[in-house]
Amino acid sequence: MSVSQTVRHDWTRDQILALFNLPFNDLLFQAQTIHRQFFNPNEVQVSTLCSIKTGACPEDCAYCPQSARYDTGLEREKLMAVEKVIEEARAAKASGATRFCMGAAWRSPKDKDLPYVTSMVQGVKGLGLETCMTLGMLSADQAQTLADAGLDYYNHNLDTSPEFYGEIITTRTYQDRLETLANVRAAGMKVCCGGIVGMGEEVNDRAGLLQQLANMPEHPESVPINMLVRVEGTPLADEQELDAFEFIRTIAVARILMPKSHVRLSAGREEMNEQTQALAFFAGANSIFYGAKLLTTPNPEADKDRQLFTKLGIQPEAYEVEHSDEAEAHALLDRVQAAQQDKVFYNAAG
Ligand code: SF4
Repeated sequence: MSVSQTVRHDWTRDQILALFNLPFNDLLFQAQTIHRQFFNPNEVQVSTLCSIKTGACPEDCAYCPQSARYDTGLEREKLMAVEKVIEEARAAKASGATRFCMGAAWRSPKDKDLPYVTSMVQGVKGLGLETCMTLGMLSADQAQTLADAGLDYYNHNLDTSPEFYGEIITTRTYQDRLETLANVRAAGMKVCCGGIVGMGEEVNDRAGLLQQLANMPEHPESVPINMLVRVEGTPLADEQELDAFEFIRTIAVARILMPKSHVRLSAGREEMNEQTQALAFFAGANSIFYGAKLLTTPNPEADKDRQLFTKLGIQPEAYEVEHSDEAEAHALLDRVQAAQQDKVFYNAAG
């Protein structure tokens, strides 16, 4: 197969498997060649993830310590106050993040939650950061509300192939996920959608996940590829570790299939050595999360990332505020802060 820069939406499973089966060096060369046609190979986008509501999730995702069904010792936290979220976003920006992702462990947001999360979106945007949220399934109306508030990205992962999906989660269907993604697109937001590898799936399932993503009418702008973090107490705690080369192959194939998307190294990065991460960047990964604990200072994790960037000559990708000029951004922030003087604290369990 020749290296081509065509963006396609008609990949067959066999074509994708053929990429997975290439000699490693051929696959990486092809991925890097395509990567260079669309991106500066020495830039990586940096996002920070903030859990705005932690644990007690009714879903049964077998990998997830936030599910109420598994005893993982995770401390549950109610929905964070808006002002606290904005404070954390400010610290993330100071540490170099350009996108702030807010995650809530919900099956889907309740309508009474939406005023709080839209205030968070407005406040974080007011700082000049890109915004992303992951709140579970969204109806068309909820997606529109978030889009109207200015949310840039919505994250909702497909997790794995349609065939393997039932082994991992039973409380929502693959189709449910596709519908949420369609609602997000229809509302005009950018899509962040990927999956997890190392859950006991076959290479055919990794190909199946990427096939679903690559054959969407529009590729997700952001494609997180997570390596399973085996958390004690979850059903996948004793899963066999996936060989790092299989992970790198998954990144490389994602890069080839979705040449214009940011491919993100997400969960599991903490357990990868620098060499594996460097290979992942070479294979076309160009987005990372700073650890969730970024916001407590000092942050050795962020320092380690900076050191690796320096060793590899990588620069964080810049983000320009497109949607509002600076004055407008400040006005927005002032409005949100004024609203917060009432010390609104929302109890998610209420
Ligand atoms: S829906 Fe999200 S938070 Fe809830 S169990 Fe699944 S992955 Fe975890």
